Amino acid sequence: MVLNRWNDDDAKKFVIDAGNDPADQALALRVYASRLIGQDAALVMHGGGNTSCKLKRPDVFGTEIDVLHIKGSGWNLGTIEAAGLPAVRLKPLLALRALPALSDEDMVNLLRANLFESTSPTPSVESLLHAFLPHKYIDHTHATAMLALADLPNAAEAVDEIFGGRLVSVPFVMSGIALAKLAADIYEARPEVEGLILINHGHFAFGDSARQSYDRLIEHTNMVEAWLEKKLAAAPKPAVRARAEIPVDAAAVLPMLRGIIGEANAAFHNDRDYPMPVLNTRNGENIKEFFARNDLADLSRRGVATPDHIIRTKNYPLYLTADMLAGGREAVRQAVADYIAEYRAYFEVNAARYGAGSKTMLMPTPNLAWVEGLGTIGISSDARAAAAVCDLAAQNIAVMTMAEAAGGFRPIDPATLFDMEYWSLEQAKLVKDKPPFFQGRIVMVTGGGGAIGLATALEFAALGANIFIVDLEAAALEAALATLGEGHAGLALDITENGAAERAISACVRQFGGLDILVSNAGAAWTGDMVALDDAILRQSFELNFFAHQSFAKAAAQVFALQGRGGQLLFNVSKQAVNPGKGFGAYGIPKAATFFLLRQLALELGPHGVRVNGINADRIRSGLLDEAFVSERAKARGIDEETYMAGNLLRREVEARHVAKAFASLAMSERTTAHVMTVDGGNIEAALR
Ligand SMILES: [Zn+2]
Repeated sequence: MVLNRWNDDDAKKFVIDAGNDPADQALALRVYASRLIGQDAALVMHGGGNTSCKLKRPDVFGTEIDVLHIKGSGWNLGTIEAAGLPAVRLKPLLALRALPALSDEDMVNLLRANLFESTSPTPSVESLLHAFLPHKYIDHTHATAMLALADLPNAAEAVDEIFGGRLVSVPFVMSGIALAKLAADIYEARPEVEGLILINHGHFAFGDSARQSYDRLIEHTNMVEAWLEKKLAAAPKPAVRARAEIPVDAAAVLPMLRGIIGEANAAFHNDRDYPMPVLNTRNGENIKEFFARNDLADLSRRGVATPDHIIRTKNYPLYLTADMLAGGREAVRQAVADYIAEYRAYFEVNAARYGAGSKTMLMPTPNLAWVEGLGTIGISSDARAAAAVCDLAAQNIAVMTMAEAAGGFRPIDPATLFDMEYWSLEQAKLVKDKPPFFQGRIVMVTGGGGAIGLATALEFAALGANIFIVDLEAAALEAALATLGEGHAGLALDITENGAAERAISACVRQFGGLDILVSNAGAAWTGDMVALDDAILRQSFELNFFAHQSFAKAAAQVFALQGRGGQLLFNVSKQAVNPGKGFGAYGIPKAATFFLLRQLALELGPHGVRVNGINADRIRSGLLDEAFVSERAKARGIDEETYMAGNLLRREVEARHVAKAFASLAMSERTTAHVMTVDGGNIEAALR
């Protein structure tokens, strides 16, 4: 059941905050109700749905004119503000109803041309539908229950059965002027209704007040849910295959799938360095239950619950059965190749209707996979987008389950979906700016909670990467993840422990589907003259400053091999590796070994497209060189701290962010390997050559 979360006190606060203008107050209630709707995942997901209200506003001459406040593109209902509901002059929109047709480009142009404020976001493509209906407040969602209803083969009869005339159904037409006109005509023949069910699309509710429209939206949704639940309870349980749970090793399957799809995308773009996708995996009880059905192959071919989802999920998932997985890489590669061939055929047949060359094909690889024994897998350009695919996949599964029990899941046909997927307005988005450099790249940073590690993580994240942080300190890890924000993850563990590298890399693979760049950064210094040094200390230093680098490199290289698309290892070496400092033997010697490891790995992994590089940094304020240490060193040399920190050829302090930039620039240097870059402000004694 969807809860009615209207609260008069909260609503009043919105009105008070809006000031004294009655129009602003009415809009404030629109904002309040829109947020209630947008914050409920059962009602709205990922930008789906829109809301409006009709008000009077004075123009520059002081004349009161009718305006439509409608959700602007780029705004999320759950967090919307008044600015996200731009005002459009209503009269010129109503005049459009006389037109027999209107292209989408012309419609968008007219909407923008009639904005009250020229800088407002572009009004929703469903603006005309809101405009042509007379109601003051209108709410539109693609709620899960409503989609199950709207995708039934006899949806119109079911609407009558459930609502007894309180709602009327509208046959499927793509969003735009044709749908707006049809919906208005149907409404005008039945002016007593409280809302519309758009077949294969979603739900509209309306009212004289924000409250009335919201109340109706919730009530309608719950009426449909109750009806579906009765059908679910009455329907025979779908047949379940009688076979044992299939053990699938996610840490092996995900990188393989990622690599195979990445290879296809690289071929499509004719760019061998094109990034692989980021994956998101879901395997909750609802998915397990769904995957046990014996009609999965059939359901995987039905299509998406609402055309709105097509851009994110494509029409069909890639369905990988246990048998295919048992067939190994070649069988999975074949399944992906079949998917691509089918998508190309779908594109060619449907694009032909528009004339040669008028549509540009999207990447033909799947955006969603159903993998037996593993779950649903969202496949996209970054972690957030991949998670959104899984959210929609979960909604689709819920819709399918309910609709199948209530008469059948019959979404829109592929030809119509093609019109949506290749809508001119969507195609226009393809020529957008270039994506950030590291979009699609999964970067692991060890010691990611420390000064250099976090600066490096932030640098890569700012350039579009998804980061997986590893740090010894759980608190530092949490703080780093909070700084990084959404789309990143991490694990707290001691990297010198047996099996730590495998655990960390496997966690990263489960989170994002694979790994592109390992920044092997964690380190710590032990001091003392070699002749007086306890062996145990030297061995401890070797564990962290050499063996951990080696074990992480080894585990990362195994993932790179599964992906088959190259990869990168970046080491934080140290000036100590080439230029010993007094008392720093226990630190410098393992670092020198790591320096050699870097070259050895570059030699061994080069043929597999794996680049191996490193940074020699010196005198950076960090956990290793803290304030007390800086002060002591400066005092020992009889200089102030600032002079000590700037003790290099450039006479400028070197900071963690400079090291971070150097790591990123090495990662960007696509034909550089076995290279160590110095970031020390200049130190001739430590110069490599
Ligand atoms: Zn819609």
